[in-house]
Amino acid sequence: MQLRVAIGNWLQRRMPGLLCLAMFALVAVPAFALDKLNLQLKYLHQFQFAGYYAALEKGYYREHGLDVSIVEGISGDEPLKNVLAGQSQFGVGSSSLLLERHAGKPVVVLGVVFQHSPYVLLVPRTGSTQTIHDIMGKPVMLSAQSEELTAYLKKEGISLSNLTMLKHSFNPDDLISGKTYGFSAYATNETDVLDKAGFAYQAYTPRSAGIDFYGDNLFTSEQQIKEHPARVKAFREASMRGWHYAMRHQEEIAELILAKYSQRNSREHLLYEAKKMTDLVQPELVEMGYMNPGRWMHIAEVYADLGMLPKNSQMQGFLYDPDPRPDFLWLYRALAAISFLIIVAWLIHMKRLSQERKLAQANIKASEERYRRLFSESTIAQVVYDIDNLKILAVNARYLQLLGYAENEVIGCPVDFPFDVNHREEMRSRLHQVVQDGIDNPEATYRGRWHYQHRDGHHIEVEGTSRRLEYANHRARIASLEDVTERERIKQELEKYKSHLEEMVLSRTTELIAAKHMAEAANRAKSVFLANMSHELRTPLNAILGFTQLMKRDNIAPENQKNLATINRAGQHLLSLINDVLEISRIEAGRTLLQSAPFDLGEILSSVEEMIRVKADDKGLKFITEHAGNLPAFVEGDGPHLKQVLINLLGNAVKYTERGQLALSVSRRNGEINFEVSDTGPGISEQDHARIFQPFYQTQSGIAKGEGTGLGLAISQEYTKMMKGRLAVKSQLGQGSTFTLSLPLPETEAPAAQSAARSIIGLEVDQEEMRVLIVDDKEDNRELVMQLLAPTGFALRTANDGQQAIDCFIAWQPQLIWMDMRMPVLDGYQATQQIRALPGGDKVKIVALTASAFEEERQKIIESGCDDMVRKPLEEASLFLVMGDLLNLRYRYAEVEQAAVTPAQTNLARALDFSTLPSSQIAALKAAAEALDLAKIRQQVAMLKETHPALAAEMDELVQGFRFEQIAALCDKSQTQIKQEEGES
Ligand code: ADP
Repeated sequence: MQLRVAIGNWLQRRMPGLLCLAMFALVAVPAFALDKLNLQLKYLHQFQFAGYYAALEKGYYREHGLDVSIVEGISGDEPLKNVLAGQSQFGVGSSSLLLERHAGKPVVVLGVVFQHSPYVLLVPRTGSTQTIHDIMGKPVMLSAQSEELTAYLKKEGISLSNLTMLKHSFNPDDLISGKTYGFSAYATNETDVLDKAGFAYQAYTPRSAGIDFYGDNLFTSEQQIKEHPARVKAFREASMRGWHYAMRHQEEIAELILAKYSQRNSREHLLYEAKKMTDLVQPELVEMGYMNPGRWMHIAEVYADLGMLPKNSQMQGFLYDPDPRPDFLWLYRALAAISFLIIVAWLIHMKRLSQERKLAQANIKASEERYRRLFSESTIAQVVYDIDNLKILAVNARYLQLLGYAENEVIGCPVDFPFDVNHREEMRSRLHQVVQDGIDNPEATYRGRWHYQHRDGHHIEVEGTSRRLEYANHRARIASLEDVTERERIKQELEKYKSHLEEMVLSRTTELIAAKHMAEAANRAKSVFLANMSHELRTPLNAILGFTQLMKRDNIAPENQKNLATINRAGQHLLSLINDVLEISRIEAGRTLLQSAPFDLGEILSSVEEMIRVKADDKGLKFITEHAGNLPAFVEGDGPHLKQVLINLLGNAVKYTERGQLALSVSRRNGEINFEVSDTGPGISEQDHARIFQPFYQTQSGIAKGEGTGLGLAISQEYTKMMKGRLAVKSQLGQGSTFTLSLPLPETEAPAAQSAARSIIGLEVDQEEMRVLIVDDKEDNRELVMQLLAPTGFALRTANDGQQAIDCFIAWQPQLIWMDMRMPVLDGYQATQQIRALPGGDKVKIVALTASAFEEERQKIIESGCDDMVRKPLEEASLFLVMGDLLNLRYRYAEVEQAAVTPAQTNLARALDFSTLPSSQIAALKAAAEALDLAKIRQQVAMLKETHPALAAEMDELVQGFRFEQIAALCDKSQTQIKQEEGES
């Protein structure tokens, strides 16, 4: 559409230029540019078509680039036929074209030349009274296209059926001859013939009855207009211009017709025709080609009256518009389409709007319904109240249920009516505050606690949330009230429980603390008990074992020697039992302290092996020892505890193995020392592997043995753990056992040389006499120490308790005090502290004597001011050693005793072989040794000197060391060997 408008505009602007260009082209090169076309006349050449000849002759067609041929007609129907067939582009027609158009022929009238139809109905003139009605019943010739005459007759009330219709001959003679009465003719033509013939005729024109048809017109086809609009316009314009010229130059055109077209008619006739035409064409009054649609309407009505056209038939497209206004049809159509679309869209939009409105209304309704339901079915109580008068507007079911009212009892009531009486004033003032805040700040939501009262009087606590709301034209608030009464009650209950629980916890804690104190007290009591027991048991043992040691020095009768040995053995066993029991208690109480110091691994192994070898030998068991070459000489660790564990394991191996062998293999791997103790004993079942490490557990074979306490392995295990090592057993019943002890014992430097425990016989002569005070409440103990020290040349005094000790110290100023720690009146701790506070008290050496088995006692003792501590039962050697260290003493050692502690001596027992001795001598030696009969032993040894001097010398060493047990064991072993040998032989 935009393109068409643009082209239209462009043409409008350029048209004059284009026309000039066209004109120039026509004049310059006419032969090449002329548009050939035909004009079909409806009859033979005559003045009736003068305008077209003039246009051609005057070059009007040519001016428009048209090369026009004017074609004669004969029957009158050629123009319609040829124009519609396309043979002629233009034709000369009559008003009957209207009928053709209505019949569907696409003819368009370009312009009317004859403003009035030339048709007349000629009848012979008969007199002045004659009327048209005289025609009734007479023969009449009516030409095909003279409908206006038919109409005229009809209008005059003359039906064609009342006439005798003859075929038209177009020969006026037929009228003259009376062949026909009526004769349709052109007023411009046939009348001339009649006039010339002197025939009187009467011409009836339809105009007399008001029927005024157009005469000749120029027409074309719709197709022609559509395809060649410029040609049509040009042809019409040139033709009408020709008509204009012809009507003004009638003679010239008559000459032209005669000269160029036809001489059928005389010049005179042509001019006659021209003259008659002037009335019909009216060239001076009407513009050539002019046609009035009203006239055409009139013609159509006449046709309609004749039944030839329907009433009010349309004239659309029939009349040519030489200057059509720009064709806005497309625009109108487009506008119409747009309008239509707009209307449709608008309708759709309106429909949609209406649907949306309906939907929105439905939604609003649904939403309102939803809110209404939410409100009414909410499990939270809700109330809507007017903020201007504080009256309730609406409540939901839950609200009514919460407060116990019916709806009609609350609607319209003040919103504060159910406030709890006890909080009413406070609640009311808060309500007013909330309402006021809501007015100032409508978006705000208020949250708070409210106290309500149920209808039955019980108190309700609610948590409320309220906000502004427009409700049915009221300024309102909606409050949601959540019942928290129960929650509060539970909370308070919980608070109560909490505080109660705290109380309970407190009292329980107090109880527990008390229980703990009691337990601690009990523990302390146990410790005290154990300490007491230890003291009580060790003190008499001290005396028993001490005095047996002393007695061994004397010459005692042989039977008493034996008894003494038994006492000594029993005492030693008792001591070890006490030690074991105390040790396990001590471990359980966590009191066993580990000591870490460098020690000689080889020495410990030797001493253990020596001890075990004797026992193994006693039982006739082979004892294999194996030391890896990479063992360190000195290691850092707890030597005494290691020794104890090894003695335990090896002791068990000996104890439970009846025949075969036991072995100790020591190796070093991954920084650990591994001690493997294996035997060929009864073995231990799998299920007992763990149990044997529990205190007091013994296997069947253990119980059957009737020895031991079941504590050894438990203690060993604990020691091992303390030493960060591992102790494990591998054994099967009947397959022997292997215990493996792995300990991290790092290699270390050799410790400072320690003086070997040698037998002391006195102080070296050049030393000043030492004053030694012995403090003990037990006379036995005082006596024991007295007797041990007396021979060595100390000045000795005794005290029975702490107080006496202080007194003695003040009076006598001893250099060293042996202080028993448990004493009546004033114990050793207090006495020591007080002595230390006295003049010279800082110099005196005080050594605690204690029967306590607990190592931690040492700490307490040292803290109380003692320099050192020696445990009971007293060992002679440690007694001297401690004194020697503290007082820098030099002792005199007995020669033999010195030999007794040499390393050679440790291996002595092993090297001795009695098998070559007579069995009687062995039996005698054994009896003497068991009876601790020194004299008898010496006697036997003396006897040996002659027969077995080497053996006698070695035996001497054992005797000097009072190693009676070993002597007895060696004798035992030899006897067994002899028996075996005898059996074998
Ligand atoms: P005790 O030897 O004093 O009974 P222990 O704790 O040393 O206590 O040993 C616990 C038990 O383990 C023993 O009673 C014994 O039944 C068993 N047992 C220990 N060592 C061996 C072993 N080498 N061979 C067989 N059984 C053993």
